[in-house]
Order: sequence, then C-alpha cells, then structure tokens
Amino acid sequence: MLIQLILVFVYCSDFSGLLSYILEIRELPEDFHLKIGIESGGGSLKVCLNVLPENDPEYVKKYKSAGINKLFIIGLGPKLSESYANIKSLFEALDLQSICGICSYTFAADFKLIMILLGLQSNSSTHTCPWCDVNVKEMEIKGSFRTIKSITENTNLWQQSGGNITKAKDFKNCINIPLIIGDVETPVLRYIPPPELHLLLGVVQKLFDCLELENINVATEWIKKKRD
Ligand SMILES: [Zn+2]
Repeated sequence: MLIQLILVFVYCSDFSGLLSYILEIRELPEDFHLKIGIESGGGSLKVCLNVLPENDPEYVKKYKSAGINKLFIIGLGPKLSESYANIKSLFEALDLQSICGICSYTFAADFKLIMILLGLQSNSSTHTCPWCDVNVKEMEIKGSFRTIKSITENTNLWQQSGGNITKAKDFKNCINIPLIIGDVETPVLRYIPPPELHLLLGVVQKLFDCLELENINVATEWIKKKRD
C-alpha cells in the first residue's frame, strides 16, 4: 500500500529578495555572512536567518545582529518532526543552494539536527562525531575530517551494499547525502561550527549529577551561585 504524505509548511518564497532588502535597510557591507539556524521546539520545525557583516565585530555588537530580535524565521512547519525528509523539503523550497553560492554562511543547530543535516545516523552510533569519522570505541585515535564528499561516497557505498541499516556503521554511519551546501572537499566543520551551548549543557549536567550524588546541598548551592 502506498501512503502519500503531505507536508505543510510556510516559507519565504523570495529568499534572495528578502536578503537584498535586509542588506539595503541595515546598510550592511557587501561582504556579509549568513547564519542559518535549524531549530525544533514549541511544536514546530523552523529555519531561521541572521545576516551579519563578515568582518565587523563592532557592527555586530552595536546592532546586536546575531541576536534574536534581528532574526528572521524564513521557514516554519507546524507539527513537522526533525527528519531528513522534512528538512530537505524546507531547504528545497527556500532554494538555499542559490544563495549559499554567493556569500559566506554557517549552519547552527543542536546535535540531533546537525547529524540529520549531514546525512548521518544519530550521535549514539559507532561514528558519533559530526565533524570527524572517529570510532566511539577508539576515541583516543584522531579521526579524519568528514567532508560532503566523504559522507556522500560512504552513503553511496552503503546503498550499493544493500542499504542495511545495521551495517551503516561499516560506512561511518553515513546514510544520506548531506543537506548542507558547500565545497565538497572542505571539512564540514567549516560550515557547522560546534554548538557551544549544547556542548556545555551536557558537561554542566554531568558535573551537577556527580556533585548531587556526593552532596545535594552543595550541588544546589553551586547552581544558585551560577544563576547570580
Ligand atoms: Zn570528531
């Protein structure tokens, strides 16, 4: 039985027009940078945009260009789950490809979405790192940088081998063609910087859990101090 799914989302139908308008209104220099955020929360999947001058930290500070008040939601799907197919559809509708060919850009997302964007299995898989192909059992050995090319090649090899999901670990857990746009031989780290907040959340939670086991009062005090 064939089931047809209909995706419902809204998106900016003239991304390049919106960008030209933002550049004009904000008097941004020609060398600008796009920060494209993919986020899931509040019951929807969103693609967000911040436009920043490439080499002018003073401007960014003064106008808070990276802040939430200068952020545009350029695509939004209510009740849309975080899946490869859904993000692919949103990206295609927005035609990110054409814009990303003419300026510098980075993608921002949490770990789950980063793995999806790169066409990889989840962080609980054998090759857990989005940026390199290190094996989780050999973390002391440095992995090779992942690139769009390496992920695409591994995905193709996995599919040619039959596309058995349990065998994906033999292909660095690459199961889809990356959704990010960029030079195929450049490390994907260049396009998706590590998400500082999400990295710290895990570390701080671990520290808190250990401290709580030892002494709940000290742990609670520590959290209170951090809030001050
Ligand atoms: Zn790594």
